[in-house]
Amino acid sequence: MAENIIFVGKLIHTPSLGTLEIEDATVGVHQSKIVFLAKSVTDETIHLAKSHHMLKNAKVQILKPSQFFFPGFIDTHIHAPQYPNAGFGIDVPLLKWLEKYTFPLESSFRNLDKALEIYYRIVTRTLAYGTTFASYFSSLHAPASALLAELCFLFGQRAYIGKCNMNTLSPPHYCEKSSESSIEATNVLVSFMSQLDPERKIVSPIVTPRFAPSCTKDLLQSCGKFAATHGLPIQTHVSENPGEIALVREMFPDRKSYTDVYDHYNLLTPKTILAHGVYLEDEEIETIYKRQSGISHCPTSNAVLASGMANVRKLLNAGVKVSLGTDVSGGYTPNMLVAIRQAALTSRSLASVLKDPRIILELPELLYLATQGGAEVLGRGREVGSFEEGKDWDALVIDVSSQNNSPIDIYEHDSWEHILSKWVFNGDDRNIAQVWVNGKLIAGTECKIEDISPVSLNLASLYMDTAISTEKKSLRLREILESFTKTKLLPVTQCVNDGKVHAKPWKHTDENEDYRKTNSVERKRFLRST
Ligand SMILES: [Zn+2]
Repeated sequence: MAENIIFVGKLIHTPSLGTLEIEDATVGVHQSKIVFLAKSVTDETIHLAKSHHMLKNAKVQILKPSQFFFPGFIDTHIHAPQYPNAGFGIDVPLLKWLEKYTFPLESSFRNLDKALEIYYRIVTRTLAYGTTFASYFSSLHAPASALLAELCFLFGQRAYIGKCNMNTLSPPHYCEKSSESSIEATNVLVSFMSQLDPERKIVSPIVTPRFAPSCTKDLLQSCGKFAATHGLPIQTHVSENPGEIALVREMFPDRKSYTDVYDHYNLLTPKTILAHGVYLEDEEIETIYKRQSGISHCPTSNAVLASGMANVRKLLNAGVKVSLGTDVSGGYTPNMLVAIRQAALTSRSLASVLKDPRIILELPELLYLATQGGAEVLGRGREVGSFEEGKDWDALVIDVSSQNNSPIDIYEHDSWEHILSKWVFNGDDRNIAQVWVNGKLIAGTECKIEDISPVSLNLASLYMDTAISTEKKSLRLREILESFTKTKLLPVTQCVNDGKVHAKPWKHTDENEDYRKTNSVERKRFLRST
């Protein structure tokens, strides 16, 4: 349970682009929210916090001199089912990479036991790396996507979770039969997640047309309509790689550009996350700005797949919202510190190539992209991303001391600006002592067993128990979930129309033999385009 706590210590955050605040602070948290924030630490500020009407009997947590508070990282683009491939498969460009590595792995997520194991690992790993909010692409399977939502909800990680909508130009064994069946499966997931978290505070569904080439015009249209009807955010890819852009041009000859395809089908909204945007034309940038959609800059993935270097400065100068994504497994790690480093180096390389030093992204800007910038792109900038009264307490406690075999060496003469920079460029999960989401301590090296909620603990011990079959683990997971939510949850196969049981249990129809035959023409086209 979240409780009332007064936090005292060094606080570092980037509330706006280019602004870095490093201050001693006294922060009062009532359940999930910051209700008191003084940018100093004195007997008076602590007394004022203690006498705040919402902080009665609050316990006081004082940071060590080697520690500081930092907002939780927000990863605005990550593919959860691709996690087993993180760290290999860098031998081919994007479209071939999808065919060779990604689609075969994602298609296996019809197996829920496999999904449970991999999703458990990605959620716990990203939490250890300090990701408090992630926008996940799942596979095209609604049941496995529901499982990911369950795990995020139980562990307390904020997440957008979208099953991929993809009904064309994909391998026959990993492609939806029609736009109708794709939307029906999306509706199943939305319905299930509405039971799980009706307020969409921790987990929210997100409409996820994979990218324009994997959707028919009909499906793109349906996705836009579905998102508008249900008030949901949207995530997809745009302008990542020259081969992909040429494919979009070929498939949508009547549209002006890649961006115009999405705009035409009402997929560009203030809650749309567009991954990459490496090769956007000026007119496309203008459209994205007008629609108030955001870009998830994924520099690690762009480097690994040799896709290119996005000019973030140009996007920012045009007023476009920009954030950072790890894009696992195009990106080789879900560690957001690595995404920050790569964004720094990409901006420097591009500045060198274009002979324009103004392109360089400085540390405060990079940290903004990984926190408040991410919150803005996800449409949650008023709730999380920085420290402010009224916002939720999503925070990391970073420890730069030498304990835990820390990879950072600090010297007496180091300023806090130096310490911060050393952490960004040399630190890792050994330095993430505490991870707080929505006022709850849920991970970190200092997170003791008694700090973790009984639910997470149950889940952890269940996962570790090798004597239990994975099938039984899935059933046990459901029991744990129901004891947590104190409601009997409908199985995902029966979730449609706001929880009313569907006449016929829903099932995947993507193995239709006729479809395999008709799709073979498109499959050849796909392979040719790579
Ligand atoms: Zn991606």
